[in-house]
Amino acid sequence: MKDYKLLTPGPLTTTDSVKREMMFDHCTWDEDYKEITQEIRRNLLKLAHVTDEEYTAVLMQGSGTFGVESVLTSVTGPEDKLLVVANGAYGGRMGEIAEHAGIPHEIYRERFDRVPEASVIAGWLDSDPAITHVSMVHSETTSGILNDIEAVGKAVKERNRVFIVDAMSSFGGIDIPVAEWGIDFLVSSANKCIQGVPGFSFIIARKSLLLASAGNARSLSLDLYDQWKTMDVDGKWRFTSPTHVVLAFAKALKELEEEGGIPARERRYSENNRLLIRRMEELGIHPYIEGSHQGPIITTFYYPENKKFSFGAMYHYVKDRGYAIYPGKVTEAETFRIGNIGEIYPDDIEKLYEIMKEFLEEQEHA
Ligand SMILES: *Cc1c(COP(=O)(O)O)cnc(C)c1O
Repeated sequence: MKDYKLLTPGPLTTTDSVKREMMFDHCTWDEDYKEITQEIRRNLLKLAHVTDEEYTAVLMQGSGTFGVESVLTSVTGPEDKLLVVANGAYGGRMGEIAEHAGIPHEIYRERFDRVPEASVIAGWLDSDPAITHVSMVHSETTSGILNDIEAVGKAVKERNRVFIVDAMSSFGGIDIPVAEWGIDFLVSSANKCIQGVPGFSFIIARKSLLLASAGNARSLSLDLYDQWKTMDVDGKWRFTSPTHVVLAFAKALKELEEEGGIPARERRYSENNRLLIRRMEELGIHPYIEGSHQGPIITTFYYPENKKFSFGAMYHYVKDRGYAIYPGKVTEAETFRIGNIGEIYPDDIEKLYEIMKEFLEEQEHA
């Protein structure tokens, strides 16, 4: 098969050294394997700028959604009520999870090209004292917008509610001081900005609230408290762990550190992103999100004005030349998306620009 790089927001292109870690069938019951899990958990707390007195890290089998579902259905009790903040498909998905699990909830829907306002959320909490938990997405991968979880966290904590953040496509690529920003549960996954492969999600959890949630879970396999209780003994996973994925993730964490940690990775992603937007503008392709709210992870672009433009044709043209891009996900406009996270450098963005330029010129003359 012809190789290509992924300009998608996860799974993403990983290093060869991360992929090579998976060429080994590790057993799960010996000390060295359990220690790998424990070290991953300690490293995640460090990246989150929290201590192990206040917080703990739990790894959960499955994709990112499994982690979000685990938190929402495990930490809300029968008397609790959830406010879901949604300005994209992933925020909307949290509403669907609450609906399926029968968790009493409200949804504050915002336009996909706008960030939810902390003052609106504060108003919601002030007028509905039954609301005990607030959940929202940090980097809404649907559009690429970066939500202001710091301001929302402040409003939520001032009102003594629990704050849950889906930081799936930002944790590891954007520095998040979890305690300082008032986050009680943060969810992310192995295959995004840490640059591992898909197979598990992880949760940074405030210990006191996790302990208080024992017995609340609506699902057996997604029971966050039980998963933590088993894992916290010595690093043994509750059910079969995705061993190859865990080995690759441990390596990816080392490579993140070698790169210079989250600040260095954030700089690389931001540089990729700024260059991408500049080059696309040169091709007459404009971003959907207004500059100050555009995140450094993925960008939604409007189709170019050229009447003959076909995204399908461009997708195949670009893929044949080494890069996979992404269809759009916003509903009200014709768009496509380009991610710039993973083992991607400005040189890749320049190559993509040349390929797309060539495609648009060929289409123009067809
Ligand atoms: C990737 C992602 C998820 C999880 O999606 P999965 O397909 O379950 O991995 C959730 N929220 C956001 C914002 C994401 O980018």
